[in-house]
Amino acid sequence: MKQVFLSYARADGKKVKRLYDDLSRMGSIRVWFDRVDLLPGVKWNPAIRKAIRESDFFLAVLSQQSVSNRGFRHSELREALDVSKEFPEDWIFLVPTRLDDCPMPFHELEELNYADLFPKWDDGVARLCSTLQTSASSGKPLVRDEIPHDDLSIMVDVDRVGKSERTSIDGGKVLRRRKEPRRAHTVRRTYHYKVGLADLDLKSGIRTMGRVAHGLDSVQSSFHFTLERLSAPRKALTTMDRCPQLYLPRLPKSFYKRVGPLDTDNVICLTRRFLAFDEGSYVRYNHLTGDSPAEPRVRFISYAGLQEHAEAAGVTLEVAIAYLITAELVDYFLDLGYHDQTRNCPMDRTEDHSELTGGLRAGHFCKSCARALDKGTPFASAFRAMIAWGR
Ligand SMILES: [Zn+2]
Repeated sequence: MKQVFLSYARADGKKVKRLYDDLSRMGSIRVWFDRVDLLPGVKWNPAIRKAIRESDFFLAVLSQQSVSNRGFRHSELREALDVSKEFPEDWIFLVPTRLDDCPMPFHELEELNYADLFPKWDDGVARLCSTLQTSASSGKPLVRDEIPHDDLSIMVDVDRVGKSERTSIDGGKVLRRRKEPRRAHTVRRTYHYKVGLADLDLKSGIRTMGRVAHGLDSVQSSFHFTLERLSAPRKALTTMDRCPQLYLPRLPKSFYKRVGPLDTDNVICLTRRFLAFDEGSYVRYNHLTGDSPAEPRVRFISYAGLQEHAEAAGVTLEVAIAYLITAELVDYFLDLGYHDQTRNCPMDRTEDHSELTGGLRAGHFCKSCARALDKGTPFASAFRAMIAWGR
């Protein structure tokens, strides 16, 4: 079943609920609507990115009120625009959908086919439905020739003649999307997030990462682990306090380019070097975990000296790496955070690796983290299985 993602501003909530109801009544299309589909306890950002990635159409609902509002979901729209650039020019993914005669918030949107739900709501919805339905019922992407000829209409925005001609969605380009089969109808039940794992500086580390990815995949189905090819450029490496460090702010844009706009929900990079990053005017160094200052999806883990502590805890290096990865995912996907006290738990905020040994040996969450995990999140059993993996 084709999926439509509804992007809108709070100010338009009522009308968007009505659009959701109207589109859902079609039966042949699944509509992703945050008020219905966002699960409690799940961070909205990765959940929304995942939903956009799995959708066949992205309806950007716009109105005069919402485009002038600073709270408008510009980041969602930006992502959708990035995704649409991955497709051939005649494929349609992003459909600006106007509730009134509002301007487009981005210049790029002006070049796209759009749908108007005014002046007559029912007519607008019917036109939109017929276009989406043609694509949904054929089970394949909609191409222009397949659109019933009566539906073809060209609308030119008189205010902008000479600047750019805009066509309505049903009179415009071809509606097509990725070729691979979609599994949108299973979204509600499987919570399948894609996590990329990369070893930044060891070629032999790829085998280790492969075993970790395979192992973590085998014990749960909430996250799917893939291997990413990312390497840290020389200029990001430095030495502080006589220890080699990966200085995160020095990673260039080209480093993040391999992390596609929506390809992975999260990427975890491992390095044998310690991590250094800026905090205010200070440079923090010798750290074991760190967030990217440039891309929130990218996290870093250092395994400097980890082997020793894995041995002390009686586990393999792979198990210790999986343990650190799990803690990072808990921190990223849920608003759980690390705790300052040492409780022999993956969520201990470890200043050095020696504090990891107790938690590695225990192989489970502390009581307070376990309680927080059980509070209605869909991931509790997955995270438990991941930190128990390989023991
Ligand atoms: Zn804990």
